[in-house]
Amino acid sequence: IPVESFDLVIFGGTGDLARRKVLPGLYRRFLAGQMPEDARIIGAARSDLDDTGFRDMIREAIDEFVSDDKRDPKVIDAFLAQLHYTPIDAKGEDGWDTLAKLVRKDVVQAFYFSVGPSLFGDLATRLHKHKIANAESRIVVEKPFGRDLESAKALNAVLADSFDEHQIYRIDHYLGKETVQNLMVVRFANMLFEPIWNAQYIDHVQITVAETVGVGGRGGYYDKSGAMRDMIQNHLMQLLCLTAMEPPSDFEPDAVRDEKLKVIRALDPVKPDSIVRGQYNADEDQDSYIAHSENPESKTESYIAMKVDISNWRWKGTPFYLRTGKRLKGRMSEIVVHFKEVPHSIFGEEAGSKANVLAIRLQPDEGMDLRVTIKEPGPGGMRLVDVPLDMTFADALGPEGADVPDAYERLIMDVIRGNQTLFMRGDEVEAAWAWTDPIINGWTSRGDKPVPYDPGTSGPEDALMLLHRDGRRWREIK
Ligand code: NAD
Repeated sequence: IPVESFDLVIFGGTGDLARRKVLPGLYRRFLAGQMPEDARIIGAARSDLDDTGFRDMIREAIDEFVSDDKRDPKVIDAFLAQLHYTPIDAKGEDGWDTLAKLVRKDVVQAFYFSVGPSLFGDLATRLHKHKIANAESRIVVEKPFGRDLESAKALNAVLADSFDEHQIYRIDHYLGKETVQNLMVVRFANMLFEPIWNAQYIDHVQITVAETVGVGGRGGYYDKSGAMRDMIQNHLMQLLCLTAMEPPSDFEPDAVRDEKLKVIRALDPVKPDSIVRGQYNADEDQDSYIAHSENPESKTESYIAMKVDISNWRWKGTPFYLRTGKRLKGRMSEIVVHFKEVPHSIFGEEAGSKANVLAIRLQPDEGMDLRVTIKEPGPGGMRLVDVPLDMTFADALGPEGADVPDAYERLIMDVIRGNQTLFMRGDEVEAAWAWTDPIINGWTSRGDKPVPYDPGTSGPEDALMLLHRDGRRWREIK
């Protein structure tokens, strides 16, 4: 079903994010018939291009970033015809009057700030000064949303000067993933899980986001950030919230976001001995973390594992272990719920007993599997094995299931529909920083160095110990 007609202005429309994710995503929605014929996408950036130049640039981006089976020359032409471009200077007045004439007042207006956060204030102010935005316009902002509580508050304040909270869409693309939304459906649309979704029945939860790539050309930027700021404070925190939150009374944006906020506020401070930070060594090509950093003594972590406790009735005593890192042996994102063992095995210890495990995979092969214990077939007595009940979407739902839209596609369409459920609210972001800041300040003031780990491994040995000492083990990174 097509969404309402819209004018979507992409500030930074010539940048990496716009070319790699936003515009290819919009093309795929166009192909799916979701973009109305009179909707328009207006690129606005520093480059001195015209409509034709921008269309050529985006044609190349589609060639590069959209899969072969989705590239139809006629459809691409029709899509590009809905693209426009106007040069603009976020920090000056050039280009704004032209933009004001271009943007229509009688359709949904969305402004995507695909530029660095230092320009957010300039854009927000000028959108009003030049009477382009109105009380219903939407703005979309990207990560990083601050680097600590103070800077996040400052960003929120600068946006709040010009826009109401209901107009601000803070993107965390992990929330746009199909499986993440399915986590909510599995929890709240089945009778099976929710009654046992608590510390009484769940032993612990593991959340892993493992990457095989290193920091590469982004080393300078990353070195000022690190895994805690770049991944834990936002992406893994959001996954933790959706796993741990109480059932909202409905699926309205604020009902869901209120529940997520309560989880963040219930997080215990994390003790230094519950955190392992790592930095990857050189591989055979001498490609190390340090090789990409401007600082040969850098103490920034490219890996982090931590044990997080939630102090509320549902979760007290059930830790959430989070880990994320670069240059690991596999690319894998998953939330894994480890249930407790049965209180007493009637089959005896020798039969072997296995606890149930529910794995929610974000990538690869979006889907879920639940491991259940059954009898090993055959006459050899009562021996138990655990087998997966597999729900890979592609297998379970056929081609429809395999055609999972990219997170950006879904989120941009949600902006046009005016649905903020999958976007972070300002107070959520601030609460997450309020929890993160003391952790980072702790290791900074102590001068803690990350421990080295070899590329292509599961990360530092110390991270294994973090679970071993609790009598648990990490799932294998594949
Ligand atoms: P980029 O450097 O590739 O592009 C920046 C864009 O901003 C260009 O189009 C440039 O013309 C425009 N711009 C810069 N200064 C301007 C000015 N004064 N006036 C008007 N336009 C100006 O950056 P990017 O990688 O596309 O990232 C954009 C934002 O998205 C950043 O905040 C980044 O942190 C965030 N982000 C990027 C990615 C990614 O994969 N690239 C992922 C997540 C978040």
